[in-house]
Amino acid sequence: MARKLNFSSGPAALPEDVLRRAQAALLDLDGSGIGILEHSHRGPEFMRVLERTEAAIREVAGLDGAWAVLFVTAGATHHFSMVPQSFLGEDETADYCHTGVWSGKAMEEARRFGTVHVACSGEPDFTSTPRTQTWSTAPRYVHYTSNETIYGTQWAAPPHAPAPLVCDASSDIFSRPLDLVPHALIYAGAQKNLGPSGISLVLARKDFVESGRSDLPPLAQYRTYVTERSMYNTPNTFGIYVIGEVVSWIRAQGGLAALAERNDRKAAVLYDFLDQSRAWTPLAEKASRSRMNVTFRGATKELEETMLARAEERGLSGLRGHRSVGGLRASLYNAVPEDGIRRLVELLDEVERAAR
Ligand SMILES: *Cc1c(COP(=O)(O)O)cnc(C)c1O
Repeated sequence: MARKLNFSSGPAALPEDVLRRAQAALLDLDGSGIGILEHSHRGPEFMRVLERTEAAIREVAGLDGAWAVLFVTAGATHHFSMVPQSFLGEDETADYCHTGVWSGKAMEEARRFGTVHVACSGEPDFTSTPRTQTWSTAPRYVHYTSNETIYGTQWAAPPHAPAPLVCDASSDIFSRPLDLVPHALIYAGAQKNLGPSGISLVLARKDFVESGRSDLPPLAQYRTYVTERSMYNTPNTFGIYVIGEVVSWIRAQGGLAALAERNDRKAAVLYDFLDQSRAWTPLAEKASRSRMNVTFRGATKELEETMLARAEERGLSGLRGHRSVGGLRASLYNAVPEDGIRRLVELLDEVERAAR
């Protein structure tokens, strides 16, 4: 059975090399005679996995000793509440940049704990990341979503904020170099660019973590993950293993700068085609276009359905847009090959010509 080209928004395509290594490690991790799922999390074999995974992340992301690398056994949604619960006092305000579905959910959770000030909003159609923001006087932190997976918009650079940034980077982490300086905490569910679902990677400044509440249950505090090295309880050992393999793969590709170049090129092939097409129209404004999730519409519903059916026949999968936006969406994460985007463009062109 040939593998399909997977344009799914998440869980999403992973590098084939990594999948093959994981397949072998299920039976035998690093020649230990025991599979990754079967090893004790306290044993030396898994400790080596944890160490090399953290080291690879530190190297690729350029993290110094002021930063902690944490693995939390839950997706990005968990941090929508964990962040404000830890850092936002009842009488404090956090500023949120509202760019779509995910920031909406994050704000909803934050309102349980303190005051949310909406510093900018792309409502109602969320086709761009707002160019101007109105900050509150002394926000505890500023939260933004670096890439809006559903609407297909992406911040070109982090917002200039008067407080430490907290970033939901679930759908573009490690797709380009990270500007660490303005950030206090970056979290990402793994299933878009890093590995399996149900685990998230958190990069956090230790001093910011220390400033959080210390009277919460241990697993509700980032502090516990720092002091216990993400091993307060049994972590998702397989998830950490896969993330380690993916990040080693990223390093072998030349790191984040090399991937950013490739991802720019990949997105440009598709956007250039859409811009000249009379049948297909990109949804996001040019300056806010995502390089990870390209959202677009066909001239008619019929054309979209024809395209989706033909794509499935050709082994191109996962192109239907999110139900709240409609149209099509091609997710071009790190592991989606350049050649795959050329095949997608050829098919879009073919369907367009056939409809004339
Ligand atoms: C997918 C996604 C989430 C949700 O991740 P879960 O693992 O389902 O919690 C949150 N934020 C963004 C930007 C996403 O793309």
